[in-house]
Amino acid sequence: MNCEETRLLFSDFYDRDLSEEIRALVRQHLVSCAECQDEYENFKKALKILKKFKTRDVPRDYMTILKKRRENKTLRKRNRKLSPP
Ligand SMILES: [Zn+2]
Repeated sequence: MNCEETRLLFSDFYDRDLSEEIRALVRQHLVSCAECQDEYENFKKALKILKKFKTRDVPRDYMTILKKRRENKTLRKRNRKLSPP
């Protein structure tokens, strides 16, 4: 299982919506990949924040959320470069 596959399964992994076999594969990748551990932490945090604001109808499209977070980070970096303190 590679990083991309693992990340696509985060939502189902979190919801325990996977077979024990697949869950084991995801878990296996998570323990061996610090980057995905990080992504999973971010994913969980994002879900918690979403749940805070919306008690029902938590969007399942978390990849959009993660992508937006990444875009924001890039934008902030770019802005910093454009306007140094
Ligand atoms: Zn990974």
